[in-house]
Amino acid sequence: MFFNKKIETFKRENLEALVEDRIRYTIKYASKNSSFYRTWFRKHNLNPNEIRTHTDLLKLPIISGKTIRQNQPPLSDDFQFRSVDWNQVFTIHETSGTSGSPKAFFLTWNDWERYAEKYARAFISQGFCRGDRVVICASYGMNVGANTMTLAASKIGMTIIPEGKCVFPLRVIMNYKPTGLVGSVFKFLRLARQMSKEEMRPSESGVKRLVIGGESFAEESRSYLAEVWGCEVFNTYGSTEGTMCGECSQINGLHVPEDLVHLDVYDPSLQDFVKDGECGRIILSTLIPVGEKTGTLLLNYDTEDTTTVLSRDKCSCGRTHMRILNPQREAETFWIHGSPFNRVDVERGVFQRENMEYLTGEYEAFLKGGSLNEEIILSVNLECLKDKNYRIPVVEDNFLKGFLGRNPRLRKEYAEGRLKIAVNFLKEKELLIYRSKSRPKRVVDERKVHQSKPEHGKNK
Ligand SMILES: [Zn+2]
Repeated sequence: MFFNKKIETFKRENLEALVEDRIRYTIKYASKNSSFYRTWFRKHNLNPNEIRTHTDLLKLPIISGKTIRQNQPPLSDDFQFRSVDWNQVFTIHETSGTSGSPKAFFLTWNDWERYAEKYARAFISQGFCRGDRVVICASYGMNVGANTMTLAASKIGMTIIPEGKCVFPLRVIMNYKPTGLVGSVFKFLRLARQMSKEEMRPSESGVKRLVIGGESFAEESRSYLAEVWGCEVFNTYGSTEGTMCGECSQINGLHVPEDLVHLDVYDPSLQDFVKDGECGRIILSTLIPVGEKTGTLLLNYDTEDTTTVLSRDKCSCGRTHMRILNPQREAETFWIHGSPFNRVDVERGVFQRENMEYLTGEYEAFLKGGSLNEEIILSVNLECLKDKNYRIPVVEDNFLKGFLGRNPRLRKEYAEGRLKIAVNFLKEKELLIYRSKSRPKRVVDERKVHQSKPEHGKNK
């Protein structure tokens, strides 16, 4: 089943021709309608007509959240990335990101329609159809995700129950018998625990599919969720900037809607593309269908997320659009004496199957240590089932195996004593994340000297 069969199964060469058509139109649109790009082309004496193919995008600057903030009030007198008249702006969004000061983002109704189509394609590729009833646990508001999925449902004929959070009375499940839930790994686990306390079995609830949105996770947490809920678990990746990629029924990477958003993967110095199969930074560009408009136009936008292109060949689901690995946040990557690990690696250690006999899955970790040459301590707090708070050696062993297993450099740091790992067992609700008012941080770097890889990039 497809939402837009023609486009989703387009032959690669046709798809690439369509993309390049849209790149040319988008560049022309940018040079006319975005004051940022109009000025940039003039200042660099570059003729927009010279940008014709996807490799030509390398001639344009990489922009970041910082560039957007520098080109909007109060630092600039207008929103330089806004690319339509005010009277065509349908909604205005603010995304805060990690730095705190929000970036403005403008959407036309056309943008909403295109965003919704991306989600509609993903839902259908996961097996959703007319008649499905879906609870959206993701929050409505400045984030476009929940609203876009709701709009996508109207295109498919699905019913949406817009809870906006994961804590809701279980009568919603009993009375309306939803067939799908959209939320996060931890929201689904908490909901399952709440159900078990009231003697309901998640696997008998009628829910057939779970969709995780907007976060990276370990495969171990996916398989545990699938076991607890007795159903399939899919991943989607979306952002206000318009990514919206989704896993299909094959669960073999996330399809990128290549005709509607252009995604390049760059090397760490942001100078060139990496080869398919190599990990790099996700750099996005808006793609506008010829003749249409867009509210905020971004070319070469650094998402600060990393991924790997798995394949541009036809998927067994029939779709030809490229597939990428589950993206990870660069902000959630930490460095220990030059060796990186991600929050997802900690999660992999937690969600080792045997551990789940003892744990709820909730965890938090802290990196501690002093100056550069001192030993570094990773202190991990795990929430236990049934109020256990004594050491559970098997969980400690499994955590180390899961966390260090795929990382030979980190294993060496640990074996040679430069990295110490302390696993602590806490009773229910004792984790510090429960006291945090904002979105909880699972891994917190408390080191006096933060370690990172050297920063370099062009046009910064
Ligand atoms: Zn597929």
